[in-house]
Amino acid sequence: MLLSNFGLLYGVEPAQLNEWFHAGYVDAYHGVTTPNVVEMGVFGAGVFATKPYAASANYVNRMSDYCSGCPYYHTKARGEGACPFNALYWAFLDCNEDPLRSNHRMGLVYAHLDDKRGEELEAIRERAAEVREMAERGEL
Ligand code: SF4
Repeated sequence: MLLSNFGLLYGVEPAQLNEWFHAGYVDAYHGVTTPNVVEMGVFGAGVFATKPYAASANYVNRMSDYCSGCPYYHTKARGEGACPFNALYWAFLDCNEDPLRSNHRMGLVYAHLDDKRGEELEAIRERAAEVREMAERGEL
């Protein structure tokens, strides 16, 4: 779920992520990865998933104990040390507003995004760009 979530927020090509799973895991069969990675994970086909299951650090922190030992701040979306998932999450919603805002299951998250418009969203966009640069340099 975490790997697919990163792929979704980062904007990877769904078929390439599927191939990556096949290369990395001996039990990654198409019957398992295609529905779970391509469809549910990265909303690649839009056949049976009714919305993208994008998650920020809030969800990761709620569902695991990973954040307690992490050098990133799971509560921050911008600025130094902010969790990469948070900036990428809001940037994903921001970038995909046209196709997603009208989805009735996305109404609440877009209301939250609207609350961030202005200086905060600009800072989040900057952090998301920084995170992408870090990922390209292999520093995430
Ligand atoms: S704070 Fe760390 S462990 Fe938690 S979601 Fe962000 S990167 Fe992952």
